[in-house]
Amino acid sequence: MTCMGVTATNAGRILDGVVIAAEIKAEVLVEVQELRRIGIVPGLAVLLVGEVPASAIYVRSKVKTCGELGIFSEMRTPPETVTTGEMLGIIAELNGRDDVDGILIQLPLPKHVDTKRLLEAVAPEKDVDGFHPVNAGRLQAGQPGLAPCTPAGIMEILRRSDIEVAGKSAVVVGRSDIVGKPAAMMLLNASATVTVCHSRTVDLARYTREAEILVAAIGRAGFVTEEMVRPGAVLIDVGINRVTEAAVVERFFPGDAARAAGFAKRGSTVVGDIDPAAFAVAGAYTPVPGGVGALTIAMLMQNTVTAARLRRGLPVGVRPGPALVR
Ligand code: NAP
Repeated sequence: MTCMGVTATNAGRILDGVVIAAEIKAEVLVEVQELRRIGIVPGLAVLLVGEVPASAIYVRSKVKTCGELGIFSEMRTPPETVTTGEMLGIIAELNGRDDVDGILIQLPLPKHVDTKRLLEAVAPEKDVDGFHPVNAGRLQAGQPGLAPCTPAGIMEILRRSDIEVAGKSAVVVGRSDIVGKPAAMMLLNASATVTVCHSRTVDLARYTREAEILVAAIGRAGFVTEEMVRPGAVLIDVGINRVTEAAVVERFFPGDAARAAGFAKRGSTVVGDIDPAAFAVAGAYTPVPGGVGALTIAMLMQNTVTAARLRRGLPVGVRPGPALVR
């Protein structure tokens, strides 16, 4: 063990997102206590539309974590039939409230609702998901702002695991607005040499094999195979893919009794975008589950506190740990 959240194995270091998330949450707790001492209670409003069981689980754990860290939270639960206009009204009200620092719209929304319009209606200074074009622009310009939680979590994993980014060749597979593009921008801001690949990339493996840091944000179980990985690379697996076929589970996790038992109990298991066999040649890797996904809520809490500070013109907390070399 070299530092918090990093475990050494034959397959390379496991970058343990659960441990790193706990470390971040402990720091956020201290920040919230400091803010409360000067009369500021950071607040998060969460909008959950309709009855989507997976969304309800996510929202509950976000609200619960707020409670644990001393962040005020408010849940708004408009019905499935809510219109874009009614949602715009709720967002306008939350934008105008001083006790709300962050507004989170849990996705996906019903098809009849204009998601893009709603995300852009959130005041950029309260956009704790970092999805607003103004915050995307701030990220590109290297200005203080609110960055998307999942790629911000990736950077925290690298930073807190003492993995140097500057000068490294980084390949990001995936170019979504919420993961791939901002992850690429953050790696570039940290002075990696960045290549972004996508579904139209010709001979993908030619790029992935060159990567010293490989970020996979594709949405296909085990898509990146061992042959596509440079030996010793740092593998960051963002994918969350639910697998329900026993044969597929056995192919990805041969002889893994714990996986098999979990699968037998729940009828499914979660696999990342990187074939676990590739971890054997990695220098370090994030497991699935327990890697990048574990950071998302912690980063949301961090963003809520950052929003509370930025809105009041307070300096954004300087966190401990080795800084990314710029
Ligand atoms: P997305 O919007 O569907 O984007 C997927 C990206 O992968 C696209 O840019 C797509 O390329 C690319 N792609 C698809 N097939 C490809 C192929 N055969 N070769 C190369 N590139 C290909 O997905 P996302 O929202 O970014 O999410 C990606 C994964 O991360 C999913 O498994 C998701 O569940 C997971 N995720 C995890 C977290 C977390 O907290 N850990 C958060 C968000 C998402 P094109 O642009 O050309 O279509």
